[in-house]
Amino acid sequence: MSILKKVRSVNALYAGLDKEIAIFQSKTSLHCKAGCGKCCTHAEVDASPLEFIPWAFNLFLNGTAATTLDELNSKESAICHIYEPLSIVDSGSGKCSDYVYRGLICRLFGYGANRDKFGEMRLATCKIIKETQAENFEAAQKAMKEGLYVPIFTDYYMKLSQIDFKLGNQIVPVNKALKIALEEVLQFYAYRPFPRGFKDCA
Ligand code: SF4
Repeated sequence: MSILKKVRSVNALYAGLDKEIAIFQSKTSLHCKAGCGKCCTHAEVDASPLEFIPWAFNLFLNGTAATTLDELNSKESAICHIYEPLSIVDSGSGKCSDYVYRGLICRLFGYGANRDKFGEMRLATCKIIKETQAENFEAAQKAMKEGLYVPIFTDYYMKLSQIDFKLGNQIVPVNKALKIALEEVLQFYAYRPFPRGFKDCA
């Protein structure tokens, strides 16, 4: 499958998920605290390269894929390369600098669920939401038990691997996922013509 087809398939998956999340948010009133970027600062954010293929392709079209790959190769911090803290002193406040192209994990976290060992749905969300929106969080957990639809992590990761098993099934630290996604796009176009209408990519 070409990179363009993969990008379109991943974007189509995201479009459906975004709608499901919007419905879930409106029914539960759960929401991220404005300006909070705490979950992006965790060193243990893991992702698959495929979920960042649209991000990597966009960088390629803008001509910044190769330089971003260089930055990632020399990066020592495990914090997501795309994360932009508000200030050096308060790294927990900030934002995703490429929100439109964020990965699957970034979309699911907070508004997606996992099944526990008893088969019950558990919302995978952060401590801040659990503590500051405790009532809504408990109500959401109850509503899920009673049948409220919630996107499920494993279902979405399965759908992702159906697009490209190798790139979708590899779960690695987020910066490695970004790196592999960029390498994949750059290698694909190394000996192929650039996408139509683009001359100076990479
Ligand atoms: S891609 Fe954006 S939303 Fe996802 S972890 Fe990185 S900074 Fe956070």
